[in-house]
This record gives sequence, C-alpha cells and structure tokens, in this order.
Amino acid sequence: MTKSSVKFKQAKKVIASGVTSPVRYFEPYPFFVKRSDKCHMWTEDEQKITDMCCGYGALLLGHRRKEIMDAVAAQLKQGTLYCAPTQKETELATLIANNYLSIDKVRLVNTGGEATMTAIRIARGYTKKDKILKFDGCYHGAHDSVLVGAGSGATQYGIPASKGVPKETARNTLVAEYNDIDGLEHIIEKNAEDIACVIIEPIMANMGLVLPKKGFLQKLRKMTKQNEIVLIFDEVVTGFRMSAGGAQQYYNVKPDITTIAKALSNGFGIAAVGGEKKIMEYLAPNGPVYQASTFAGNPVSVSAAIASIKTINKLRNTMYAKLEKNCKQMARAVDDAATAYDIPHVTSHIGSMMQIFFTEKTDTIQNNTDALQCDKKKFQAFCTYLLKKYNVFVAPSQFEVTFLSNAHTTQDIERVTHAYEETLRHIATKYNKRSLQ
Ligand code: PLP
Repeated sequence: MTKSSVKFKQAKKVIASGVTSPVRYFEPYPFFVKRSDKCHMWTEDEQKITDMCCGYGALLLGHRRKEIMDAVAAQLKQGTLYCAPTQKETELATLIANNYLSIDKVRLVNTGGEATMTAIRIARGYTKKDKILKFDGCYHGAHDSVLVGAGSGATQYGIPASKGVPKETARNTLVAEYNDIDGLEHIIEKNAEDIACVIIEPIMANMGLVLPKKGFLQKLRKMTKQNEIVLIFDEVVTGFRMSAGGAQQYYNVKPDITTIAKALSNGFGIAAVGGEKKIMEYLAPNGPVYQASTFAGNPVSVSAAIASIKTINKLRNTMYAKLEKNCKQMARAVDDAATAYDIPHVTSHIGSMMQIFFTEKTDTIQNNTDALQCDKKKFQAFCTYLLKKYNVFVAPSQFEVTFLSNAHTTQDIERVTHAYEETLRHIATKYNKRSLQ
C-alpha cells in the first residue's frame, strides 16, 4: 500500500471528494506531494515526478524560481497582510500596465475566477446591460455566470452546466461556438442590445488546446466594437505565458478588459483585472460597481508577482523562443509517433502549450463539439502509463493541456518526449486491432 493511497483515504474522511479542486482527482487515487523544485515534484512515496502540468500553467518559470522565493522571503520578514495600501501594489500595477498595451488601470484580486467575475460585473455596470456571451467549452472559473457550457473539470465530470446555478442566472449567459464567426454574428445581431460583454479565452486551453482560426479574434474585436459590447480577454492561462504581453500581444488584438492570473505570480494566489481607464473607473469607491476582498493586494503575493514579471521581462528575449522551439519539437515527435503507431489523433501546440487529442477526426480541433468526440478513456490510459512507467505527470484529462516551463532543460524535454513516444507505443498495443509487438 502506498503512502499516497493511505493519505487519500484519510483525506476523503474530511475533505469533500478528497480533493480541494475536482481535476486533482484521478483513478485510482491522486499522488500526494511533499515538495517541488524546478520541473520536478517529489511524492510522499519519494517518487520523483517530471511536472508537465506546471500548476495548470501557472509555473511558467518552474517551481521555486530563486528571484520569486527571495522576494517572498524578504516580504515575510516585513509582514503578510496589512489591508492598507502599499507602494508594491502601485509597482505591480505599473508593471502590468507597461506590459499590456490595452491596460491603463488595474484592480488586484486573488484568483482567476474572481478576476473574470469582476470583469463581467464591470462590463455589466459600464454598459448597463445584463447578458453575457461566452464560448462553448471555454472555462472562466467556478462562478455562476460562467458555469454554462464550461470546459475543464466541468466537462471532464459531465457537468458543463453546474447544478446550483439558478436558471435566471444561466438565462443571461449566451453560448456561441468557438471559431464560428457566422454563428457569433447571428447571436450578436439578435441580442446586441442586451449583451454587456463577450468573454473569451483567446486561446482555448480548457478543452484540450484549441487555437483561434486566422482572423477570428480580429473579427470578434470588430463586431463587439460595432455593437458597443465590451470584449473581455480571459488571459488567466495565456497572460505572461504566450508572451510578456499575453495572447493579445501575440495576435495583436486589443480587448477592453483583460484578466490575468496563473503565470502572473508563478505559484501564489493573485490575479488582476485591467483595462481602459474609462471602464476601470466604474469600480468602487469612485464608481458604482462593487468589488472587494480582504486578501486582495496582500504583500506576499504582490511581491511574488513583481519578481515574476521582472524575471519574465529579463528573460523575454530568449525564453519565449526557447519554449516555443521545445514545445514544437515535442509536439512534432508526439505527432510522428502516434502516426507511426496508427493511433487516430490530432496534436495541437502553440507557444509553451500542447495537447494530443485521441480522435478519429483527421484535421484540426476547432471547437468544443470537435473536442467532445475525443476518446477520454484512451487519454486516461495514456496519462496513467506516463506517470506509472515514466514518472511524467500531465494534467489527467483530455480537456486540459500539457505545459512547458522555463525550468525544463533540453534533456528534460528529450526524456519526456521519449516517454510520450513509448507511452503511445503502449497505447497502440492496448487499443489497436493490429498487434505492434
Ligand atoms: N480562466 C481560465 C482561462 C482558466 O483556465 C481558469 C482556471 O483554470 C480560470 C479562469 C479560473 O482561475 P482560478 O482557478 O484561479 O479561479
């Protein structure tokens, strides 16, 4: 019996479902972590794991990056919570505004979900309209307005529309198909007078990895502007990961409001909502849109975020190109191996993110409908074998993404690529009709 299995039994007695967030559970039980460093985690059973989940994208710089640890250690000596303004909040907001061309002003919050909830409320207050439009399979956190057609764990567990969300709330959330500009146009034409905002992951990273078709984000920008609808880019995953200026810099599209979390602090609880001055001024106390939080702007997380952005800005000229090269190399090798072993699949990659979809579809995965056709069981077998046989941890769901970090060395990537290739050989042996041995 492993220590992790014993600890999971204990956890189940006092923690709902045994885990503090749904996607952390997988069959037969999740491993329990004791410590981490760079791109590795060590379990309670002293298994050394190569982390390709990277805090669901948060750990762009890897575990325990020195500049961040030092900044946090220094802050701990000065205090952890003041609930009064600090100079560091202004420093952080300035760094964010300098990196993101669409952002004049920032409000700091604690989580990605809180950031999207706030962004939507600001948009509603600003436009004086109630409906929002999201895309099927995009995940924006676990709050009522966006738990409709939600991806990530909500889809993995078959509850994209969560119980507990009042019908009246769900009715105000319209859902469009990602990458379908005609469908979007139709919904907007019919509802423009009621739609406060469109919220979108500029790169969909919660239904596997789905890339925007060429021109899709630009057309969305144009359409929202013409109809006086606020465009929210949810860059909780892509912020600082796709580039130092996020996916909006990568695609050169300027949203009205942006939400950023995860790689903003590389492993601490902090997120940000930012946008044009005239919109952000709607927030209380100056404006009529209420938002507040005890832990917002706590100096520990703020210190981590400042150190993260400064480190990213220092590394940006080489880091993103290196990550992209490693990721492309890995995705190509995985694609080649799956083809060689006759496994029906599609691989998708961009920047430092990739995913293999086990699917009979032969071209790209363009939306939620395509992604849902994938073989979840095969993906589960793939993750389980990778972990058991090669100590490689990928997010245990077809609807998540493999993330690379700056802490993965060339040798780490080569080892992981080899593990993926051998795991695909195993999958072929297990599932393909023709024996490959
Ligand atoms: N938005 C996106 C795109 C996400 O991927 C997530 C979480 O994975 C969220 C929002 C919610 O962030 P959090 O889990 O910090 O509330």
